[in-house]
Amino acid sequence: MRSLSLKLTLAFLFVSIIGVVLTAVVVRQRTQREFDQFVLDRYQLDLIDDLSRYYLQAGSWDSINAIVIRNPYRRGGRGPGTFPAPVTLVNEQGVVVYGGLHHDAGQQLSEDDLKDGVPIEVEGESVGWLLFSEFIDQGFPPPESPEFRFLESLNQAVIFGALGAISIALVIGFLLARTISRPVREVTAATQIVAGGDLGYQVPVRTKDELGELAKSFNLMSTDLAEANELRQQMTADIAHDLRTPLSVIVGYMEALSSGKLEATPETFNIMYGKARHLQHLIDDLRTLALADSGELSLTRRPVEPALLLEHTALDHSVQAQERGVTILVEAEQDLPRIEVDPERMAQVLGNLVSNALRYTPEGGEILLSAAKSRGTILLRVQDNGAGIAPEDLPHIFDRFYRSDKSRQQNGESGLGLAIARSIVEAHGGSLSAESIQDKGSIFIITFPEG
Ligand code: ADP
Repeated sequence: MRSLSLKLTLAFLFVSIIGVVLTAVVVRQRTQREFDQFVLDRYQLDLIDDLSRYYLQAGSWDSINAIVIRNPYRRGGRGPGTFPAPVTLVNEQGVVVYGGLHHDAGQQLSEDDLKDGVPIEVEGESVGWLLFSEFIDQGFPPPESPEFRFLESLNQAVIFGALGAISIALVIGFLLARTISRPVREVTAATQIVAGGDLGYQVPVRTKDELGELAKSFNLMSTDLAEANELRQQMTADIAHDLRTPLSVIVGYMEALSSGKLEATPETFNIMYGKARHLQHLIDDLRTLALADSGELSLTRRPVEPALLLEHTALDHSVQAQERGVTILVEAEQDLPRIEVDPERMAQVLGNLVSNALRYTPEGGEILLSAAKSRGTILLRVQDNGAGIAPEDLPHIFDRFYRSDKSRQQNGESGLGLAIARSIVEAHGGSLSAESIQDKGSIFIITFPEG
């Protein structure tokens, strides 16, 4: 199975192998180079020593031979030593005595050639020079020489070290991979649980990193889903209840009428008609909400002056306001730009806000409709100095079927008005919010982006 832990483990292993191989190669090369240099330095010192002693005994270079001038790897080992030593021996007149790799015996060298040479001194007198040529890689040290064995054991140490490091990397990688992939596995299992219907299921948040964030977001989503589901159930119950009440009144009246228990007077029909109208409104409201939810609310937009919208609303409610002894005022800033809205839908929104304001404002109160411009937005406000909204109700007034006073539902208040108003404003690209102080009044603010 190509699980996340397997991939992570392999990634750790891969990285560690690269690291180990690189280290091994660098260590090996460096050691070899240093080692070669060490061998060469030793060789040079020993050779000069040997040659001084030879001269002291022989008194000249005449019978010098390759046995005295051995090559670096011949010493002490059983190595071949068949190649010429990388040195040139020159006598005190500058004539080559032993040519080595680069010169022929008998060749006369200039002073310039000799300037890198090491003088050979016997009893304080210079008897010649030794020139060392570049140390040439002469292949591997011969097998079984101490040098060879040293490099061999170094290689082995590097290989063992590398194997050890890779095994540790494998174990740590495996453990780490398991730790990292655990929350992912938990969230995956949790999505299946939620998909199975256990909405609201939570996973433990173990870390503060991205995986912790993932767990947190999942929990939030799960909670939201559970709430949405509960809301849906509540709404279905509310709809059923709200449809049932007027319908049972109509049915009751009809039964009484058909059994002759009730006389068919115009009042009776008026009551029945009122209930039917109420049902019709409720169904219209639900349909508007459903359309807004699915983004299919059709808007016939045209440029409208904000002041005109407010004035029409005020006029529509003037009779009702007069009956209740409430004053409606309109205040609009000069030269406000027009807004692109559906005038009928906006009249519905403003009408709803003003109806609410009228309902909750006592006699002698005042409702102010105002329009203003503020930081690239157009604000339409409906303000009253009525009952206000309790702080515990304020966050819910835009919820569907929310009524702060549950007993009012009989008066034709469905608790859908503000939900619809907000949906319509949002369908226009605007927003609707409310502020309120209990017993002082409320203000509803519609905000549209300018232009
Ligand atoms: P309803 O159809 O019951 O009026 P709304 O959605 O229009 O439903 O309003 C929801 C609740 O918000 C109302 O029940 C009321 O408690 C509160 N509310 C709305 N407007 C005002 C206001 N102007 N003053 C005080 N309370 C208000």
